[in-house]
Amino acid sequence: MANAQLSRAEALACSGCRHACHVMLYSDTKSQLFGRTPIKHIILMQMRFDGLLGFPGGFVNQSQERLEAGLCRELQEELGVTLSISEDDHADARYATGTNSSPRLITHFYVKKLKEEQIKEVEQASASTAKDHGQEVLGMVRVPLYTTKGGGGLSSFLSHAFIGSARTQLVDSLLRLHLLAPEDLHKALKHSLKTHALGAVDLQAALALTEAKRDHS
Ligand code: AMP
Ligand code: MN
Repeated sequence: MANAQLSRAEALACSGCRHACHVMLYSDTKSQLFGRTPIKHIILMQMRFDGLLGFPGGFVNQSQERLEAGLCRELQEELGVTLSISEDDHADARYATGTNSSPRLITHFYVKKLKEEQIKEVEQASASTAKDHGQEVLGMVRVPLYTTKGGGGLSSFLSHAFIGSARTQLVDSLLRLHLLAPEDLHKALKHSLKTHALGAVDLQAALALTEAKRDHS
């Protein structure tokens, strides 16, 4: 990540800053795609209300609650489950880039490993009892870590649009937790850049479709 990393304590020392906390929940899995491609790990992300992919979590008012308590409150709303996230799960804090918000925003990122059954419980609750379902959260998604014959899978996933530094947080976590070989990740990202360019051509075609309609209305 380009912007400087802060420790949890350094981040909290900024009295005038706003804070947002998000978490990557993941598990190991022995399941296979089409009975032959190992899925290896389940990583949960979400389709947000703004159409961007991101991690669950949100703003925390650290003058009123501890960062982790605020994160758990956000998770209760977005996922419909009570999870315990601790200081030990804090992986990263940075000043948010791309926003000129005043006061400055610090984004905290946590990583928590669960059992596969717990991940499935989160998925079920998030689509049924979670308060934010269908509003702030349009749906939870799993990150495909494999590469299909046609080069899809992880590379296509990475070519979508992400909120803030969520894509970097994902890639950084995959490397740091050794969830994927660096070489495989590198290949997937190179392919993502190509997919991205092709996506622009596709968007142009969709745009042309609306233009034709507008001319007739
Ligand atoms: P939320 O309430 O989840 O939208 O999060 C509060 C703010 O944190 C958002 O408006 C974004 O600016 C920022 N944000 C959300 N997700 C991430 C992320 N994964 N990485 C960095 N910043 C994020
Ligand atoms: Mn949120």
